[in-house]
Amino acid sequence: MTRINHMLLGAHMSIAGGIDKAIERGISLSCTTIQLFTKNSNQWKGKTLKADEVDRFIALRKKSGISPIIAHDSYLINLASGNHELRESSIKALTGEMERCRKLEIQYIVMHPGAHLGTGEDIGINNIVSSLNFILKETDGWGIDIVLESTAGQGTSIGYRLEHLGRIIAGVEEKERIKVCLDTCHLFAAGYDISTPEGYEKVLKEFDRIVGIDRLVCIHLNDSKKGLGSHVDRHEHIGKGCIGKGVFKLLMKDKRFDAIPKIIETPKGEDMKEDRINLALLRKMAGQPSS
Ligand code: MN
Ligand code: MN
Ligand code: ZN
Repeated sequence: MTRINHMLLGAHMSIAGGIDKAIERGISLSCTTIQLFTKNSNQWKGKTLKADEVDRFIALRKKSGISPIIAHDSYLINLASGNHELRESSIKALTGEMERCRKLEIQYIVMHPGAHLGTGEDIGINNIVSSLNFILKETDGWGIDIVLESTAGQGTSIGYRLEHLGRIIAGVEEKERIKVCLDTCHLFAAGYDISTPEGYEKVLKEFDRIVGIDRLVCIHLNDSKKGLGSHVDRHEHIGKGCIGKGVFKLLMKDKRFDAIPKIIETPKGEDMKEDRINLALLRKMAGQPSS
């Protein structure tokens, strides 16, 4: 008998209609893991989570077996900002999102390190470190880990070099609560050529040396609309962009990542038919039935 291993594969799901709807959408696409925003990603404040909404979410997650569920922070949050007010708002907002995660029993919140907006990378990284140290103290004992995502390096954003992530972790006091998410589109756009088997291995070796492979808790699977080193963050369907299918085949078969949730953030409409196609392709690459 061939045993199909439990592959952790899913998509970023909309919470339109209620936070539990994201799980319903995940179930309808046979996801074993999903990512979501815990509130509108373009606003500072979210509606207070109602107790019955939280109960429905937790019950449905248990019934579905979808685990882990990963939160992604809102796009307004910028812990690197040299503007004191913006950084204060960002710290408050991220803490607020972690409070939502705590209610929803979500362990991981993925975040973009931030953009320095002109002050330079060194000051930006220092701002991120001091903000994280403050937030980690505030949220001590909540059981939530902060997951730094590697970025494409668009504009003045930090995190497009693995060294940035390494430096942030080095500065954080409570290191065991800092994890990392790699995004294939971001890595490629940042200049890490993962499109060939040799490049893939080389980048992973570098990642292990600078950050540590044991910190990896999530992989975002996105092809890239723009080229190697373009520093443009534009996601494309799996195998249809500048990276091509190769890296996704390698990742889906890589035993080191069997237990790591892999999540697509590719363009889609309301009926999610694009997600179905991308997920089916990835399952096929892993040698599993496509639905
Ligand atoms: Mn992201
Ligand atoms: Mn991503
Ligand atoms: Zn992106």
